[in-house]
Amino acid sequence: MDEEGDFFQYQALDNRPIGRPGKVEEAARLVIGQAKLAADLIQAGKFQKVISIGGGLHHAKVASGEGFCLYNDVAFTAVYLMEKYHLKRVMILDTDAHAGNGTAEYFISDPRVLFVDLHQDPGTIYPGTGFAPEIGTGAGIGKTVNIPLPVNAGNDSYKKVFEEIIEPLAKEFRPEIIIRNGGADPHFNDGLTSLGLTLDGFKMIGRKVRDMAEICGGKEIDLVASGYHRGILPYAWMALIAGLGNFNVPLEEPSPIPHSLRIDSQMPETLKMIAEVKAFHKDYWRCFR
Ligand SMILES: [Zn+2]
Repeated sequence: MDEEGDFFQYQALDNRPIGRPGKVEEAARLVIGQAKLAADLIQAGKFQKVISIGGGLHHAKVASGEGFCLYNDVAFTAVYLMEKYHLKRVMILDTDAHAGNGTAEYFISDPRVLFVDLHQDPGTIYPGTGFAPEIGTGAGIGKTVNIPLPVNAGNDSYKKVFEEIIEPLAKEFRPEIIIRNGGADPHFNDGLTSLGLTLDGFKMIGRKVRDMAEICGGKEIDLVASGYHRGILPYAWMALIAGLGNFNVPLEEPSPIPHSLRIDSQMPETLKMIAEVKAFHKDYWRCFR
């Protein structure tokens, strides 16, 4: 092994930074270590919720990395909890703007993991997977739930998706723990994406996850990263964490909300998409019948 470690085994072109790629591999291993610690702390009963900053590397696949992700800490956390602590029902909620194609690959046929993936319509953005008909295979059929949001979908669309799809699924699945990943990139001003969340929307997601985790005694691991606008990123991360932790942090939107986003104009499209997702899953979930 050379000084760059396993980097070149797991690199894709977009994972190749200028300078010292070996350090990226080291950082990727540290993120996995954080996830492991998070799982151990929760299972030891020391905390109900643990946040891993820099985590959520959901594009990394079983045998290769891509999309700025070398090793998939989301998948690692779930597998570690199932192997070391024998958990039988783990819910992963991916709220990043991009579909978690790596995480999906890990659990496509695994009935122990309910993978709910909320993202911008994959017809309009990398990685181009995560359409509603992708529902899992074999023993895992119905346990992969893709929720492709229309471009510019805002806070109201997200809220509706939680009420109509995510919360009913969580109640029926009864997870023993929830793992959420995703950072700032669904923000309307992100630059790399075309969704419409404001800080209030991020806070709402945190709060919804907190409420849902009541199903599993409050147990939740939050893997927070992503975001491609430096002026937005810290505010959006803080909004997610404030919602999740029920902290009263005054947060002011760092850039003015465009008029076109004051009302969620994508709601009719979102409602159509919700009906489509339910139709694909109604044979596998009582809550959608
Ligand atoms: Zn992303």
